Amino acid sequence: MLPVVALVGRPNVGKSTLFNAMTRSRDALVADMPGVTRDRHYGVCRTGERPFVVVDTGGLSGVEEGLDALTAQQVRLAIEEAQVLVFVLDARDGVLPQDRAILDDLRRSGKPIIAAVNKTDGLDLQNALAEFATFGLSSTLPLSAAHNRGTDDLVRHVLPLLAEDAHEELAPEDAGAIRVAIVGRPNAGKSTLINRLLGEERLIVSSVAGTTRDPIRVPLERDGRRYVLIDTAGVRRKARVEEAVEKFSVIKTLQSIAAAQVVVVMIDARENLADQDLHLIGHAVDEGRALVIAVNKWDGMDQYQREQCERALERRLQFVDWAKNVFISALHGSGLRELMRAIVRAHDAANREIGSSELTRTLERAYEGYQPPLVRGHAPKLRFAHPGGSNPPTIVIHGSRTKHIAPAYRRYLENFFRKRFKLEGTPVRIEFRDGE
Ligand code: GDP
Ligand code: GDP
Repeated sequence: MLPVVALVGRPNVGKSTLFNAMTRSRDALVADMPGVTRDRHYGVCRTGERPFVVVDTGGLSGVEEGLDALTAQQVRLAIEEAQVLVFVLDARDGVLPQDRAILDDLRRSGKPIIAAVNKTDGLDLQNALAEFATFGLSSTLPLSAAHNRGTDDLVRHVLPLLAEDAHEELAPEDAGAIRVAIVGRPNAGKSTLINRLLGEERLIVSSVAGTTRDPIRVPLERDGRRYVLIDTAGVRRKARVEEAVEKFSVIKTLQSIAAAQVVVVMIDARENLADQDLHLIGHAVDEGRALVIAVNKWDGMDQYQREQCERALERRLQFVDWAKNVFISALHGSGLRELMRAIVRAHDAANREIGSSELTRTLERAYEGYQPPLVRGHAPKLRFAHPGGSNPPTIVIHGSRTKHIAPAYRRYLENFFRKRFKLEGTPVRIEFRDGE
């Protein structure tokens, strides 16, 4: 599972700016998606050699609130789950009493702390850092998050502090199985679905939890295919004391999505689609995961309600119109066969291998059909294409002036390739390269 790094510090020191720099999307695919903003507080940093979850804990105001703020459910969870704490400070403010109070709190956790002294742009670094040296932390690094300076160095200092085994290898029994994350808001019906699937089918091995908060992997065999369900719902942990905290953890959700090949986002048909649902879907796409939308609680809805629901989904999920919506009742077990079929299809599409000549032929046809708009009188040229990896299928297109290609044209190409190769249920990545 992905290790976790928490950003903590007073309000306004630049945590969310740093968060944005660390979790920047590498792909315009979703960055320009209308209606979906990236989750403000949780993301995955992939700028270094190993990915990890970054949590922007929001502002701790220090003295008065101190640990009060820390006990806010998600903040506490973040600090508890983090392997490394990045203590963000403001070089222009210098050391304030609140900073010392926060540091005391952080020290109590016993976790490694890196001080990131932000807003050093235009300042003398030596001077800027000197004051913070009094904290006696082993790493005190200068940063200018707004100018994206020092973030790579910060990541380089973070990585060695993350536990080796946190990035665990695939369990041998998982090989050949489709890894499926079932995610969604609380009460969408995730536990009911998992129990239903397990109750109907033979459970091969009962899985043993690693640490308490790791998502649990549940092997499942159905119609001759093997799956590993990555359970974020805490199905087997409902009885535990920490139920409230366990019930919904964004961190666990991100970890599950990272570990999965196919993400099933469960939506409650009786509730309006929430931003949280869209964020989850957007994140899964961002991570390149194959996607199935399971619309649950379809039982007991009348014709009118069903139509309303379908219309709302069509409207708001346009940006993932390639993902299949499956209407199910986890409670009654209806639609599950179709759900599993959609999972397999999405997985197979995500792993489809397509040769260079077929890709190039398709590119030529797309280019003939509709050419990218001129840039200062010159048309970007697209010459040939080759595969750049699977899961998600990645198509590398060589040409010239490709950096001027508009997002709309990229989407046109995506859709063209998707249609031609029936890449349903999976994001498609297009990478442009100029020259040979
Ligand atoms: P947060 O409350 O800790 O999340 O802080 P924000 O990321 O919202 O930043 C607070 C303010 O500091 C904003 O106006 C940012 O533009 C500014 N800021 C953030 N990073 C830098 C930096 O590296 N240099 C300068 N000069 N300003 C910064
Ligand atoms: P989770 O938080 O996503 O794991 O959601 P649960 O599986 O705990 O379900 C939340 C509530 O929704 C429970 O009361 C379930 O009985 C109910 N529920 C789950 N699936 C269905 C369904 O398909 N139809 C109906 N009517 N209720 C359901």
